[in-house]
Amino acid sequence: MYRAPVNKIIRSSIVDGPGNRTAVFFQSCNFNCRYCHNPETIHMCVHCGRCTESCPAGALRMAEGKVVWDKEKCVSCDTCIKVCPNDASPKITYMSAAQIWEEIEDDLPFIRGITVSGGECTLQRDTVVELFRLAKQNGLTTLLDSNGSYDFQNDLELLEVSDGVMLDVKADCEERHRWLTGQSISTVLFNLDYLAKMNKLEEVRTVCIPGALENEKTISKVAEILSPYLKEKDIRYKLIKYRHFGVREKYQDFRQPDEEYMEHLKELALEKGFRNIVII
Ligand code: SF4
Ligand code: SF4
Repeated sequence: MYRAPVNKIIRSSIVDGPGNRTAVFFQSCNFNCRYCHNPETIHMCVHCGRCTESCPAGALRMAEGKVVWDKEKCVSCDTCIKVCPNDASPKITYMSAAQIWEEIEDDLPFIRGITVSGGECTLQRDTVVELFRLAKQNGLTTLLDSNGSYDFQNDLELLEVSDGVMLDVKADCEERHRWLTGQSISTVLFNLDYLAKMNKLEEVRTVCIPGALENEKTISKVAEILSPYLKEKDIRYKLIKYRHFGVREKYQDFRQPDEEYMEHLKELALEKGFRNIVII
């Protein structure tokens, strides 16, 4: 039975979609964003063993060439993550969809839905489909928090069990998207249109960094693509302030936007036809 790498499960979250939700964070991502504030979720551990020596709680050891994490001993100091040269984490639990569901089941009376995130959740597509089926059978809503690189158009099975996608649009053009993430923007922009057409676009998200990214152009690009839908659909646009917290040291020179700048971006989004704009 396949077990997906799970970085963490937050049993109760109010920031990963509407209402109180359980959020499942899978390990590994196919993007490598300069501004990533959870860089330890990008790569899979290569079992180099470096972090085992630095753990103050003796929660890490090598066994048969692999790092083994003892959850009970761990004091969550994150020293291992800081010393890892590979943007990985040794604190990964491999879980089947049924095992993830077991963790969630007890909280059923208190949550409205499940959100899967990452890393990039669509890399664990089969696990997500199975998990979402269980969620739907139990009356929960299901959301994907995605970097938009997945070919949703050719996976109606996944879309059927998903209520919506919270889609990142990180830049306005191929060049800046590649510079920021290391990957192409073409599938992301295709998905923006496709998911809106299919009524599966829960929200659009853009992290805003004055100077480093052309945020005005990104908002205009998103508005241009969504313009056929904006009159009828109340599509939420979340404008996220870049913050230094968690970002790798080599990328710490980005500037944090102030309130005035974010309000200016909100005004622009309003002008372009969005009615539901959230600044966080
Ligand atoms: S977070 Fe990492 S370094 Fe800290 S106790 Fe847990 S395993 Fe050890
Ligand atoms: S988490 Fe990083 S430092 Fe620890 S064994 Fe894996 S690759 Fe090495």
